[in-house]
Order: sequence, then structure tokens, then C-alpha cells
Amino acid sequence: GIKIEDVHLSFGETEVLKGVNLDIKPGEFFAFLGPSGSGKSTLLRAIAGFGPDPRGRILIGDRNVVGQSPWKRNVGMVFQSYALWPHMSVRENVGFGLKERKLPNAQIRPKVDAALDLVGLAHLADRMPNQLSGGQQQRIALARTIVVEPEVLLLDEPLSNLDASLRVQMRRELLKLQRKLGLTTIFVTHDQEEANTTSDRMAVLDGGVIQQIGTPQELYDTPANLFVANFLGTAN
Ligand code: ATP
Ligand code: MG
Repeated sequence: GIKIEDVHLSFGETEVLKGVNLDIKPGEFFAFLGPSGSGKSTLLRAIAGFGPDPRGRILIGDRNVVGQSPWKRNVGMVFQSYALWPHMSVRENVGFGLKERKLPNAQIRPKVDAALDLVGLAHLADRMPNQLSGGQQQRIALARTIVVEPEVLLLDEPLSNLDASLRVQMRRELLKLQRKLGLTTIFVTHDQEEANTTSDRMAVLDGGVIQQIGTPQELYDTPANLFVANFLGTAN
């Protein structure tokens, strides 16, 4: 699981995370909702180890990872901007992390094929990123992250560039995969329906402060404050 204890993070004078506490259970699918600028990406980056170190503690399993280099954390992250390496083919992009881990080529190939299959793009293995649509690039970024079987999966709006039907299909696939691998997952989304239908629990963030944590049902039935009620559209 992931434990976040009193995490504060500032850019210059501006405090963007103002004391975040979270306890995400092993294998949990946890959704993060909140308005633009509320600190969602900043929190995910802090967990993954990109950007400045926060104050406070971030525990993965029982290791405090604050100050650890990103590649030691065993965390997979799909970024909001999902940048693929432009000079590498799809197959090379997806296989990169395995190559880094010194896996022999004979073992890389079937793993890459399986990951591409999972996102429905096995037929594009030999394309270059600039020959793909935005949605296809997003799915390749997802394949690239899951292929190394991380302990923790951080997804920053990984489906935002997909059309509605593909989005629904992909979120089903994602959930199936997450369950199968028992991956502790944090999923940032702007889409409340997406959060409701996928997550075990969710948190609503505003201004770097968690406003409420609970199951989707709990948040809808008993919003903790007016912000949550308004944000989820349950105020009457
Ligand atoms: P969105 O839904 O638009 O992606 P978000 O919740 O992910 O928003 P963050 O990207 O975490 O928001 O940004 C939180 C705040 O921190 C914003 O006000 C942003 O301008 C600021 N911020 C983020 N990164 C930096 C940085 N490297 N330097 C300075 N300010 C930053
Ligand atoms: Mg963001």
C-alpha cells in the first residue's frame, strides 16, 4: 500500500500541498478528484519521485521513499502528457524499461507483445510515436508503464485523450488488469463517472487539502462540506 503522512510541498512561496494524509491499502484502486490546479499531479509526482522532495513521509510498503531516486521506488507512472520517446518505435518505447532492467531480448518481446495486446495496439508495434493519434500514444504510454509490473501504479488522467466509447472500454481493461496484478493504483481523473465506476475509494482535493476520503457512495450520500457537494454536483 501507500501511506502519505503530513505531506507539504511548496514551489517558491506558494504551498501547493498543505498537509496531505492518505492510507491506501494494498491492491486498492484509489481515485483522485479535484479542480484544475488543486495539486493532483504534484502529489503523484511526489510519490513517484519527480520534482522537489516534499516535507512529510511517503511510505510504499514500509519504505519511506522521500529522497529516494525514482527508479528505486518501484512505482510506475503514466503522466498527464504521456510523452513517448520520439526516436524510438512503439515496441522500443514499451520495451525500454525491461531493457533497462537487463532482461534478455527473448524475454522482452513476449512481454511487450502482451502489454500491447492489453491496450489493443499490437498492430502498431513498428510505428513511430509521431505516426500515432493522441489516444493511441496514451495507450502506448500505459503499456510502457505496466510492462515492468510495478508495485504501485500512478495514473494521471491516462484516458483523457480517448473518445467516449474507447474510454469506457479502456477503463474496464484497466480495472481488470489492476485486479489481476493486485496493483495498488492511484487514478487521477476529472471524470466523476469514471471515478465512481472504477474506484474502491476516492479523495477530493481542493487547494492542496484533502476535503474528503471515502467510497464513491459515501461521498455522494454524505459530502463532508459544501465544496465536495458542489464539486460532485450533489448540492441541492
Ligand atoms: P490539472 O487538473 O489542471 O492537471 P492539478 O490538480 O494536477 O491540475 P498541479 O499540476 O498539481 O495541479 O498544480 C498545482 C499548483 O502548483 C498549480 O497552481 C500549478 O501552477 C503549481 N505548479 C505545479 N508545478 C509547478 C512548478 N514546477 N513550479 C511552480 N508551480 C507549479
Ligand atoms: Mg494535473
